[in-house]
Amino acid sequence: MKWAKWRMKNIMKIVVLDGYTLNPGDISWSGLEQYGELTVYDRISIDEIVDRIGDAEIIFTNKTPITKETFDKCPSIKFVCVLATGYNVVDTDYAKSKGIPVTNIPTYGTTAVAQFAIALLLELCHHVGAHSISVQNGDWNNCPDFCYWKYPLVELAGKTFGIIGFGRIGQATAKIAQALGMNILAYDEYTNAEMEEDNLKYVSLDELFEKSDIISLHCPLFPSTQGIINARNIAKMKDGVMLINTSRGPLVVEQDLVDALNSGKIAAAALDVVSSEPILSDNVLLQAKNCIITPHIAWAPKESRSRLMNIAVDNLATFLSGNPTNVVNK
Ligand code: NAD
Repeated sequence: MKWAKWRMKNIMKIVVLDGYTLNPGDISWSGLEQYGELTVYDRISIDEIVDRIGDAEIIFTNKTPITKETFDKCPSIKFVCVLATGYNVVDTDYAKSKGIPVTNIPTYGTTAVAQFAIALLLELCHHVGAHSISVQNGDWNNCPDFCYWKYPLVELAGKTFGIIGFGRIGQATAKIAQALGMNILAYDEYTNAEMEEDNLKYVSLDELFEKSDIISLHCPLFPSTQGIINARNIAKMKDGVMLINTSRGPLVVEQDLVDALNSGKIAAAALDVVSSEPILSDNVLLQAKNCIITPHIAWAPKESRSRLMNIAVDNLATFLSGNPTNVVNK
């Protein structure tokens, strides 16, 4: 799609709807400030969205939804930048029908998220945090032996690591898993034979479910991937499989995962994302056996947030130059 070149007549209004998690104060908004009158809201509730956008032309959102109704009620919007890789919060098709480019930030967090997926896996294998707390609580001091462990400890070399969604983060995670001696099975809608190696093969989704010792989710949340981890697919998995999710919560049918954890079919799960965030106090996962949950932080080292900010500024600059980059609704 060719986007209309949009020229500034007056001072442009730029609104960041929910900026706190990107920048709690340790990086600068000055890159955006140079382009107009910038208003940054730390947080927002659903009923404030339309008022806060007002007549602004340029909108930055992280997790705040921009629906068809919001576009209709805020006709000044000319450009939307999602401050994240996953852009399911914006009605991108409707934006396209109105000639509004929606951009995302595709690469800022690749290494951080891959590192975090492996950190979760290592935590499931060694329970470093829980063992440290146990020592601080005096368990080692009171132990009759020179050592003890409170959970089964797992060696990863030789294990099969299944990756669903073999894009940037999936591939970066595979490299670390290979360095740990694991064999990789990858499933993606698109395959690239050149990526294959002795210890890395593309397989069908069913073969991945059947053969993997660990399954890590790295596909986007689309209608085709929503609920991909469900009771029917869990039944195809090896007994005692481990599950890692650093992608999006709704990829998993949470009650089905809880049932599989409680029965031992899935030995353990480590999740950085859940169906509704922040997590609800009655989320069934909070009561599940062998389930580690972190508060959606895979993306958040300062290094990757700084990269995110720079790419967001660049997305705005290229939009203003008439050739927007990282457009997801072309
Ligand atoms: P990417 O676009 O490079 O890779 C996604 C891959 O998934 C692509 O290869 C695509 O072909 C594949 N895919 C699409 N539909 C599929 C399907 N139906 N089945 C299997 N594969 C399918 O994206 P990325 O940079 O690797 O990011 C992946 C996801 O990670 C994002 O969509 C986002 O949801 C998530 N993410 C999470 C965090 C976090 O902090 N936890 C941070 C960044 C990204």
